[in-house]
Amino acid sequence: MTHLPNIRYLTGFSGSAALLLVQEDATVLISDFRYAAQAPVEVGAAAVVEIDPRSVWDRLGRVLASCPADSLGIESQSISVRDAERLSGVTRSRVVPTADLVERLRAVKSPEEVAAIRAAAELAQAALAEVLPAIRVGQTEVEVGAALEASLRRRGSEWHPFPTIVASGPRSALPHARTSRRAIGAGELLLLDFGAQVDGYCADLTRTVIVGGRADARQRTIYELVRTAQRRAIEHLRPGMPAREGDALAREVITTRGFGEAFGHSLGHGLGLEVHEAPRLAPTSDTPLPPHAVVTVEPGVYFPGWGGIRLEDDVHLAPGGAECLSDGRTDLVELV
Ligand code: ZN
Ligand code: ZN
Repeated sequence: MTHLPNIRYLTGFSGSAALLLVQEDATVLISDFRYAAQAPVEVGAAAVVEIDPRSVWDRLGRVLASCPADSLGIESQSISVRDAERLSGVTRSRVVPTADLVERLRAVKSPEEVAAIRAAAELAQAALAEVLPAIRVGQTEVEVGAALEASLRRRGSEWHPFPTIVASGPRSALPHARTSRRAIGAGELLLLDFGAQVDGYCADLTRTVIVGGRADARQRTIYELVRTAQRRAIEHLRPGMPAREGDALAREVITTRGFGEAFGHSLGHGLGLEVHEAPRLAPTSDTPLPPHAVVTVEPGVYFPGWGGIRLEDDVHLAPGGAECLSDGRTDLVELV
């Protein structure tokens, strides 16, 4: 196994370099000198730890030679061509590509995992509540991003799970905008998409606010539309539902009003040790949403040149229905 979040999920190892060999009667984690002290502590009884100061691949070869197998599965989405060649050089086993074996397990969260995501969401909300009242016309996006990230870290976020997005005015129409040095103008939309991490688990939130004025009629109309779409999805999402039906809960609201073209991305994605993981809440996916999955619900409507509005909350698909792990407080905020 080569995908580090999968290795962390199975063993607890949180470092940046490891190979994991899983066999019927043995699990071996191979890492390098930097993790000689950390790996055994984190992994405990989950795996035998082998440290090799020279080459983890050569060490894997020696481990494999001591317990030969006909075939050896690799994680096809995470191993580089070069590492696959290295592997072929140290084993005589048939190398078989696999996909999503651990990802499918990870999609179903334990109560402890749900609690960690909830804690991350609470931390993110507290940081936003601290930073919002201080936002002023004339500040730049990076200044607002710096204040938000500082508050997230001060409150205990282990890291930013993805680059914080602060996008003002017309830049809010870029769904994955890079936070820039643009100064925020009066009466503009400001979109903030940011995350926090607790015990390795990520939260992912988006709020869109108005800075330095009241919302105009169009801003208000689009805002209420996105909000209605998001609420409908959160209310009606259920485990077992094909992902495409979950996506449609929000998409129908937006399409019915004639803005379907302006909502060009999926409704959401799974959330856990990675900020984008299974399941996808996408119009193209027939896969049923697993019980106890945690997904984001983030409809957005974007008009180039005008701006965009997105609202994102994190939801646990409990057997009885969706349970919001973030606060879901999406009343329109006008920072006047
Ligand atoms: Zn987000
Ligand atoms: Zn997201």
